[in-house]
Amino acid sequence: MKKGMAEKVQPYEIRPGIFQLELPTPYPIGPVYTYLIKLEPITLVDVGVNSPESLAALQEQLYCLGLNLNRIEQLLLTHGHSDHYGAAQGLIEEGGKTVLIHPRDWDKVTDRRDYYLKMKPYLAQMGMPSDYLAYFVKFIVWETPYARDLEKVHPLEEGTLLFWEGLKLEVMHTPGHSPGHVVLLCPREGWAITGDFIFTHITPDPIIDITPSGFRTPSMPLHLESLKRFAARGINTFFPGHREKEGRTETALEELRKRMEYKKKIYMDTLKEGALTPFQIMRRLYPQSRKGEAFVLLSEVMGRLDLLEMEGVVTSRREKGLILYSLKEEEG
Ligand SMILES: [Zn+2]
Ligand SMILES: [Zn+2]
Repeated sequence: MKKGMAEKVQPYEIRPGIFQLELPTPYPIGPVYTYLIKLEPITLVDVGVNSPESLAALQEQLYCLGLNLNRIEQLLLTHGHSDHYGAAQGLIEEGGKTVLIHPRDWDKVTDRRDYYLKMKPYLAQMGMPSDYLAYFVKFIVWETPYARDLEKVHPLEEGTLLFWEGLKLEVMHTPGHSPGHVVLLCPREGWAITGDFIFTHITPDPIIDITPSGFRTPSMPLHLESLKRFAARGINTFFPGHREKEGRTETALEELRKRMEYKKKIYMDTLKEGALTPFQIMRRLYPQSRKGEAFVLLSEVMGRLDLLEMEGVVTSRREKGLILYSLKEEEG
């Protein structure tokens, strides 16, 4: 083996004819796993970011399997985050491929900048100060080359059955992390390809989402609802989009339950000092966090607050253009 070849990633065959590919991203989460279904029609589930490094890694791993980009006929996207769809438009331009993604994520993959920049007033209401807002805008602009807008998308919807030779997968809509997130289930064999829906050691952050009509989606309650539906499907093994190469559903749900209880206590303790904006809560919980992490951390805070509000533990009110949260007992 030539020098420098040793660290090359080899595709991992998760099931006969289905391969986990590992592609680099510029994000702190590290590489993203995409899945090649080397059965007719040859399909890629998630595609990585649009970068020369990611494209080279994809080509190398396809080459290992005796394929090139032109052989891929369809792209299925678990959700509209740049590490999962960014390269899709470029791959389509390499030769006719269809791309399928749930319609609830069409807004962000067809006009990414507009989708995120529309969030600014909502983030301001959550207490995000102007220097953080400026950084958020800078980040959205910085990310542009990694995620090209898609020109033509086709729907990938709940309950759809997808067929390959000897394989049938079912699309399950799992909103939460992203409103249009889907997972691909193989109920017969008890496994699924899950994107950013479920992990063992990290909580998939339900990211703040504003619908085209200006309604803020309750991402975390939706995510927990999706997990409940997923748990009922008897899927034992999942193949995620990051970190662990495969996970056990039961273990992941147990870990999540523990984290949720622990976090709930921390949030309630924080709110004992009085009414706070979501941004103030975020800064108290993560005092060392950097500006670049604010959006994801604020998403987590909003998610927890939505849950606590639904449970009747906290209450919110608007004051001078800000949303303030406090413990409910204080009010009475
Ligand atoms: Zn994601
Ligand atoms: Zn991801």
